[in-house]
Amino acid sequence: MAQVTLRNLVKKFSEEVVAVNNVNLEIEDKEFVVLVGPSGCGKTTTLRMVAGLEDISAGEIYIGDRIVNDVPPKDRNIAMVFQNYALYPHMTVYKNMAFSLKLRRTSADILGIGDLLDRKPKQLSGGQRQRVAVGRAIVRQPEVFLFDEPLSNLDAKLRVNMRAELIKLHERLDATMIYVTHDQVEAMTMGDRIVVMRNGFIQQVGPPMEVYNQPQNQFVAGFIGSPPMNFLDARLVADNGGVTVDLQGMRLPLPPQKAKGAEAYMNRNVVFGIRPEDILSTPEKKSASLAPLRATVEVLEPLGAEIILELSCQGYAFTARMDPQMRAKMHDEIEVYFDMERVHLFDPQTEQAIL
Ligand code: ATP
Repeated sequence: MAQVTLRNLVKKFSEEVVAVNNVNLEIEDKEFVVLVGPSGCGKTTTLRMVAGLEDISAGEIYIGDRIVNDVPPKDRNIAMVFQNYALYPHMTVYKNMAFSLKLRRTSADILGIGDLLDRKPKQLSGGQRQRVAVGRAIVRQPEVFLFDEPLSNLDAKLRVNMRAELIKLHERLDATMIYVTHDQVEAMTMGDRIVVMRNGFIQQVGPPMEVYNQPQNQFVAGFIGSPPMNFLDARLVADNGGVTVDLQGMRLPLPPQKAKGAEAYMNRNVVFGIRPEDILSTPEKKSASLAPLRATVEVLEPLGAEIILELSCQGYAFTARMDPQMRAKMHDEIEVYFDMERVHLFDPQTEQAIL
């Protein structure tokens, strides 16, 4: 198996369209790395350059110790699985998987498609087709697996099943895997590390929970997590010797350790960020850093295991994710608690995280 290194990687389709902009990334041997970002951010182009399906405008790609910039795809020792499966329609599953009998059998059994070897792709469900496409990648015994949105054509339930299967497969094969998706849930659940991209630039690289807990900028904070983080325009002011977030007169004191990091922004405008799950319906946490405020329930969305509330307060609108046991109706005024230990602040100009 092998590590993959991208050094100052650039892809220009034209003077105006720079799809990938000076990307630097080291993917460890056997690591599962997910490239995630909105449509057009350059993730597929990055993967296609690793595969050798797209020319590189500048920079280098290494697979192991070897620069592969000019190595044809078939000699890169990679296998790619596409969103649209890319199976040969006239061939059976058996023939589609090619290569040696023994490898075909083993990988068909790993994927639970051992009974389907005589069928043609049109006789298979979407999930079965994707399994064949993954099986075809396994039999090549590549050093690196590349996945381009492999689950996006599947329905929601199957996607969750296949997600778990791919996680198990990675453990079993112990292979380097690079996986592209626009779905932040897939990124969070599958990646050892995730790479968040925007407009051709890497925004942040890290283990999923690190990116979730410490987003480096407002874009990452808003992209990772669902429902997304709330952003409220605020001002930092001094209060009782501490630092307080002022939301149009509503005052939310920062806990001391947070206040320290925010001192440089005293008497300045900031973007205040709080995740829906950090707005609580009861002061159950017994933390000194819960800030209470009264809010009106605009919309209620019971989801069974949780309830999503759209709330308003003094001209601000925000989303909370709460325990389904909480009793509230539309238009009720309720008390909610911001967990100030979990809040974020961003610079309104640079969008970089202050804390
Ligand atoms: P999606 O999830 O929609 O595929 P992506 O993040 O994978 O998005 P890319 O497909 O890598 O994004 O595209 C990055 C940028 O490059 C986009 O602006 C896209 O329009 C542009 N682009 C991609 N392929 C080409 C091409 N063959 N010719 C010109 N521009 C292209």
